[in-house]
Amino acid sequence: MVYPFRGYVAPLIIFGIVLLVVGYVAGERAKEEKKLAVEERPLTEMVYCSYCGTRNVKDAVYCKKCGKKIS
Ligand SMILES: [Zn+2]
Repeated sequence: MVYPFRGYVAPLIIFGIVLLVVGYVAGERAKEEKKLAVEERPLTEMVYCSYCGTRNVKDAVYCKKCGKKIS
């Protein structure tokens, strides 16, 4: 029996798997960078909770830790 497709079907499958892996890794990296962007904001963009001292984003209304209103 002859498999006329075998010559390039296998590389195609491998290529597909590689694409999936690369796409997954790129997605994970993008998520990671987004997380870092939030954590590494300059201090000028942060406010400190006057109750517990937790650093919050500048436009935060309530402290992310204790939930008290930030004045
Ligand atoms: Zn607080």
